[in-house]
Amino acid sequence: MAVSDHVDLATFMAGVKKRNPGQTEFIQAVQEVAQDIYGFIDDKEEYHAAQILRRMAEPDRVISFRVCWEDDNHNIRVQRGYRIQNNNAIGPYKGGIRFHPSVTESVLKFLAFEQTFKNSLTGLPMGGGKGGANFNPRGKSDSEVMRFCQSFMTELYRHIGPDTDVPAGDIGVGGREIGYMFGQYKRITNRWEGVLTGKGQEYGGSQMRPEATGYGAVYFMQNMLKHAGHDVEGKTAVISGSGNVATHAAEKITQLGGKVLTLSDSGGFIHDPDGISQEKIDFVKQLKTVKRGRISEYCDEFKGASFHEGKRPWDVTCDLALPCATQNELNEAEAAALVKNGVQAVSEGANMPTTLEGVKVFHDAKILYGPGKAANAGGVAVSGLEMSQNSERISWNHERLGEMLTELMEGIHEKCVEYGEHDGHVDYVKGANIAGFKKVADAMLAFGVV
Ligand code: NDP
Repeated sequence: MAVSDHVDLATFMAGVKKRNPGQTEFIQAVQEVAQDIYGFIDDKEEYHAAQILRRMAEPDRVISFRVCWEDDNHNIRVQRGYRIQNNNAIGPYKGGIRFHPSVTESVLKFLAFEQTFKNSLTGLPMGGGKGGANFNPRGKSDSEVMRFCQSFMTELYRHIGPDTDVPAGDIGVGGREIGYMFGQYKRITNRWEGVLTGKGQEYGGSQMRPEATGYGAVYFMQNMLKHAGHDVEGKTAVISGSGNVATHAAEKITQLGGKVLTLSDSGGFIHDPDGISQEKIDFVKQLKTVKRGRISEYCDEFKGASFHEGKRPWDVTCDLALPCATQNELNEAEAAALVKNGVQAVSEGANMPTTLEGVKVFHDAKILYGPGKAANAGGVAVSGLEMSQNSERISWNHERLGEMLTELMEGIHEKCVEYGEHDGHVDYVKGANIAGFKKVADAMLAFGVV
């Protein structure tokens, strides 16, 4: 007979810390999930006996490899590449690739772990993975980025496939990088198949993928507000970041009648009290994806805006906040400032942008708080649709995809409410964690000990 290992949460977390020394981001992500799951599985012995949570917190596979490339001055450069295949219980591994100097095994393990729950929440058949390299595309020429992407894919291709693992973009990996990597995959394997998502529309990409994460984060916010009897229209919004997610979140807030006050990058934030209109958003998209400039340049173009060097935007008074830059970019003091200034709702476009202490501030203040694993799932959901289109050799138009994204975000919101509502208040973190966990856990139980 199986012996149950029904250890308490503190003992479970002590084990996670011991097995993953120094991996602070990964430990933080597991802690956040485990504290909700423990309450849910307390009386469900089958999950304990099968060690489901412990198995989920141990990636199926951690692949690490050397990426060697030559820069424009003929210097040989060496980077470290990774692919974390966390869990494929409900579908092929799926999750983005990040190119940023801050990439470490811990960061990618946390992202792959989170991705497993997020992908489950979408209702689509996708497991969880994540990858990347400590390569900084900033300041590199197009040829350097191409040579790096080709070298990266020369190793990665053997670990991925349309039914095995389907990566996408993330920080530092947009349409340009996906194009270079897809081209190299095709060259090596001599196969055109949907092995990456976020592709260009000319070669199998979804017409909605670029907008999906940012739009989805705003739809999630809209659903939270609606559930509480409010709306986006007429509200002010503070957004961090100025990349793919941030600019599309700004676009959707503006379309719904809200007023966006800030955007940022790693150099600081801009504050435009007149509101960041569609014309100004288009300028930022061009600045960041074509000119590859800095957000401070916004103030040279639009008078009345101010640049705050080295600062984050959370002190600016607003009704809505959307952190859309990176992990741990909103701490306890900044969360307290937002609450003090009357924020009503926070929807995370980025992955784990709020620290655990910051989340507690939002929780205690009982504001509407949508965690990244639910709020930013629109991106991977549309990636799931891109996989289906590629397999079926079909293409849906922008309008149809927009309807599907809206429905998917409503479905995710409903699942969070189902598992997170108590006494008239929705704990979206708890709802997302439990709903995401249950589907993966039940699939794992079905497989036995594997
Ligand atoms: P981009 O590379 O397009 O943009 C990232 C933005 O964040 C840039 O403005 C960048 O500034 C800023 N940034 C990066 N690191 C820092 C830092 N340490 N401090 C302050 N600002 C920083 O990435 P995305 O928009 O695609 O991704 C943003 C977030 O959304 C990430 O957490 C990502 O994991 C998450 N996400 C993205 C999805 C997608 O579909 N793209 C899907 C789901 C989640 P700078 O230009 O100075 O580097």
